[in-house]
Amino acid sequence: MLILSIIIVFVFGLVIGSFLNVVINRLNIHQNIISPRSYCPKCKHTLNFWDLIPVFSYIFLKGKCRYCRKKISWQYPLVEFVTGISFLLIFFRFVDINNINLDFTVILEQLLIYFFFVSILIIIFVYDLKHYLIPNKIIYPAILIALIIQMLPLPAYPNISIQNLIIGSLIPGIFFLILVLVSKERWMGAGDVKLGFLCGLIVGFPNILVALFISFVVGALIGIILIISKKKDLKDKMPYGTLLTFATFATILFGNQIINWYLNFLGIM
Ligand SMILES: [Zn+2]
Repeated sequence: MLILSIIIVFVFGLVIGSFLNVVINRLNIHQNIISPRSYCPKCKHTLNFWDLIPVFSYIFLKGKCRYCRKKISWQYPLVEFVTGISFLLIFFRFVDINNINLDFTVILEQLLIYFFFVSILIIIFVYDLKHYLIPNKIIYPAILIALIIQMLPLPAYPNISIQNLIIGSLIPGIFFLILVLVSKERWMGAGDVKLGFLCGLIVGFPNILVALFISFVVGALIGIILIISKKKDLKDKMPYGTLLTFATFATILFGNQIINWYLNFLGIM
């Protein structure tokens, strides 16, 4: 049962990852995500079923288009694989693997909701990394859906109180807005403000503090490495959305443990 669940969750993640690739690419060229059918971006040849099997097609075709032999971007297999792994991590986070007794409400309310949140985070992670932009077409619907999910009475979903949702979304929202205004959008953009608000709605207070902390620490470390290796200098921009989406995912997985550890460390608990 455990092995079967792992395989199903991973394969489901691969398939969703393949869809996320389509969303990421078509957002940029303002194309509908349903039609036309998937095609090679280089030769425009429509791809058949065998060309679209997540990860495996890429390996089987040795990273080249079957029709024009030009290179396929490694973004495709990477996003697919990472989505599969991320879904597995969500599975291990929310399902008691010693006692797999999946009832339908748990699947529906915990796994599917977090699969949705993780998918949104992955889209923004990749899109901001590639284009230094957080698309409104993703962030606005995501905020609306996150609000609805948090308001629904879902017994199996780890509920966050209304106060903690409001505080959790306003802290990054207002903090980032100040940074945007003070720096005249040099440190952060308007997209980061909306993303901060969304991440607060996903993890709530106090976990959002963990996400912010992780994002700043990881950002500082990457910045130092890039400056030392002379790949970038202090004037270069870093896609903060990429950092915050990663940090929010880490917080979904480990936020509670980190907070408990910290309170223990302070001797409060
Ligand atoms: Zn091609």
